Amino acid sequence: MILFDSVTKKYPGDENPALDSVSLHIEPNEFVFLVGKSGAGKSTLMKMITKEEIPDAGKIIVGGIDLDYVKKRHIPGYRRRLGVVFQDFKLLPRRTVYENVAFALEIAGMSGKEIRKTVPKVLELVDLSDQAKKFPNQLSGGQQQRVSIARSVARQPRILIADEPTANLDKLTTKEIIDLLKKINDFGTTVMVITHEESIVNNLQKRVITLKDGRIVNDQKNNGIYKLDEKPVPKTPIRNVQTPGHALKIKRKVI
Ligand code: ADP
Repeated sequence: MILFDSVTKKYPGDENPALDSVSLHIEPNEFVFLVGKSGAGKSTLMKMITKEEIPDAGKIIVGGIDLDYVKKRHIPGYRRRLGVVFQDFKLLPRRTVYENVAFALEIAGMSGKEIRKTVPKVLELVDLSDQAKKFPNQLSGGQQQRVSIARSVARQPRILIADEPTANLDKLTTKEIIDLLKKINDFGTTVMVITHEESIVNNLQKRVITLKDGRIVNDQKNNGIYKLDEKPVPKTPIRNVQTPGHALKIKRKVI
């Protein structure tokens, strides 16, 4: 679904590349967390997928589309095939919840009849049917993020990318949003989430890719936990690890 082959990106003026020969393959319907310290290259990787930035070297294929062949004039059309969710929601303040979702569909060229059919279904999915007439500033942060997710999934994208979707939310709301992303994934959408929140990564136990200094230093395909480094986290306390040296010490003690 998403393929990176030796992708390198260096911004003009920067000493080191933001992405340094990154290769990865995300299968259809996977749920992937992308983690790493600030400056590790997470947003750059996401911008490569949305074609906001272009790599200096390497190949990117998204949903079977080779991004080298997506010309400038086709980029908006290409982006509409992706769902993108941001930490600051990016809702239209003067439009209601219903209109925010409808507008995204209108831009995508959907007919009025289809829009009237689709919006209520999507609002039901995100559990906001009763808030349709409200404006963004009349909603809580979690509700605003749900509108933003509704808008992103209304066109039924095969891929949903979320950049720190819970950064501005409290713990309980964070769980609601992650549960919603999980539900969308269960319906067959490939989901990629950039996050700093250890607890949500550890609770979901999905694939976890760690970036460090523009390189993938860890890719836990299953049952992943939050790791910022390449060093494996010992599952048992060090004193219980049976190393040859450890065995030797025990022997000596016995002697
Ligand atoms: P993250 O999302 O993990 O915090 P970024 O992808 O934003 O990391 O940044 C990776 C590196 O690229 C950092 O060193 C950052 O300073 C640099 N960088 C990001 N965007 C730009 C830009 N537009 N111009 C110059 N350098 C940038």
